[in-house]
Amino acid sequence: MSDRPARSHGRLSIAPARTPSDLTDGPPRLKDAWEARVVTLFPEAFPGTLGLSLTGKALQEGLWRLTPVDLRAFGEGRHRNVDDTPAGGGAGMVLRPDVVDRALRLAARDTPPDAADWPVVYLSPRGRPFDQATAQRWSRAKGLTLLCGRFEGVDQRVLDAHAVEEVSLGDFVLTGGEIAAQALIDATVRLIPHVLGNRASTEEESFSDHLLEHPQYTRPVRWSGRDIPDILLSGHHGHIAEWRRAEAERLTKERRPDLWRAYRAARGGDPDEDREL
Ligand code: SAH
Repeated sequence: MSDRPARSHGRLSIAPARTPSDLTDGPPRLKDAWEARVVTLFPEAFPGTLGLSLTGKALQEGLWRLTPVDLRAFGEGRHRNVDDTPAGGGAGMVLRPDVVDRALRLAARDTPPDAADWPVVYLSPRGRPFDQATAQRWSRAKGLTLLCGRFEGVDQRVLDAHAVEEVSLGDFVLTGGEIAAQALIDATVRLIPHVLGNRASTEEESFSDHLLEHPQYTRPVRWSGRDIPDILLSGHHGHIAEWRRAEAERLTKERRPDLWRAYRAARGGDPDEDREL
């Protein structure tokens, strides 16, 4: 089996188990593995960066699955048209509801009926901003369908008909949803058990406690006239933990007053009484 999922031409690619033990030993693989289905005009953009490093290794090992669904295959007529001009006029093209509907129906095949178990998401600058809590929630589902827009976007009716959740990568406009889809999948997949190997690393990093992460250092101890802070070389784990917590608090307070307020509130502090803000 190649590392890349087979190009999908309107059919879901199913990765076969390589040996029977894949399905019985150790972490869940293949059949039960978390799956991302991505409806896109550019299936060749996948797995892209998701095929590299830890997410790529986990994909190869069957700890999660990736199934691109080629939107073009559902197009109209001999030319497989997927778009048309915006109703009411204006620049650009809009993805047709009938075409997108056919692709979403195929992507919904064999998925659980409850949206909490399998969210269907349209990547959109109009959506709710993606965050770590959303990645946590999605990583606990059975899988996820992501619809990547292009041009001016997607006809509203098909989004309403499928009760699609709209999610944004941030307050800027991309050319298409594919880069956003990869970012969201990456953030989600790394929270799936066994994907990162070292679970502790996801528990301590930015956002897991409403705080940004403390600064990191590695060898050489002195570089370009700059030293690693002494405390990190002291071997005193209690002091190191205190220093890291203090640095995380300092950075969060300086850079992200919004996160700092949430952090204070979560610990029973009154965020409005914090005079340092
Ligand atoms: N006319 C639209 C933008 C279309 S951009 C508007 O102003 O809202 C084309 C496609 O890129 C979108 O359909 C969406 O899927 C994707 N996209 C663009 N910006 C994005 C963002 N910030 N987050 C997620 N997807 C985005």
